[in-house]
Amino acid sequence: MAVRFDVITLFPDLFAPFQAVGVNRRAFESRAVDVHLWPLRDHAEGVYRRVDDRPFGGGPGMVMLVEPLVRALQAIRAAQQAAGGERLPVIMFSPAGRPLTQSRVQALAQSPGAVLLCGRYEGVDQRFIDAYVDEEVSMGDYVLSGGELPALTLMDAVARLQPGVLHDAASHEQDSFSDGLLDCPHYSRPEVLTLPEGQEMGVPSVLMSGHHAQIARWRREQQLAITARRRPELIEAARARGELSKQDEHFLSNLQL
Ligand code: SAM
Repeated sequence: MAVRFDVITLFPDLFAPFQAVGVNRRAFESRAVDVHLWPLRDHAEGVYRRVDDRPFGGGPGMVMLVEPLVRALQAIRAAQQAAGGERLPVIMFSPAGRPLTQSRVQALAQSPGAVLLCGRYEGVDQRFIDAYVDEEVSMGDYVLSGGELPALTLMDAVARLQPGVLHDAASHEQDSFSDGLLDCPHYSRPEVLTLPEGQEMGVPSVLMSGHHAQIARWRREQQLAITARRRPELIEAARARGELSKQDEHFLSNLQL
């Protein structure tokens, strides 16, 4: 089943380069992720096609106007209905939203999709948010110029979970967060690396042993160690979900943090 994203944006040109390369290209070309761009200015009225105005109460910056957004959303609803699809929830990007997590991405990857609203300027008139936005999503505690990079981030994360998009289907199962922990380190050729400064760097010998069970255990322990040192709250969450084995707990109890 394809995941459909209807993206409301003032800068549709920002999306093309990301849809043209790598994993995203495969996902978008195969329509596993079906992206429809809705340039907001197409839904503005008047000679100047205004999409923003000064804030009531004064202050710096501009606010995105409700009416063009409502018209864009109506057009999206009509297109979704014409395509025989269901009414998709509206996700708006905002620093005030809930931080995006891999579990939310996984849920979206298995859903019919969403309308993605990319804010600009000081943000969106609150009345549109109150009337139409189902969920606010944040990319973290910092401020971007617009919601386009968040929309691309979300679609990228969803795209790589679609069947057939990654060359190796197991690859995203090993990614950070997919099992609630951070990823382990990875190594490739050469087996012994000589830096320009003359220093030699090898790889952990277990990875060259060909012993699959030992390699799997080493990777698991690396994941546990990195997660315990950098994101201890993820260890607590995994423990609360009952996802740590006796062997994991034994390793953690001997780990120097
Ligand atoms: N005045 C807003 C504030 O202080 O929260 C910032 C507006 S920002 C310049 C313009 C738009 O970029 C926002 O409406 C939102 O869509 C997007 N944006 C900026 N930072 C973001 C973040 N951390 N997460 C998600 N979206 C963000």
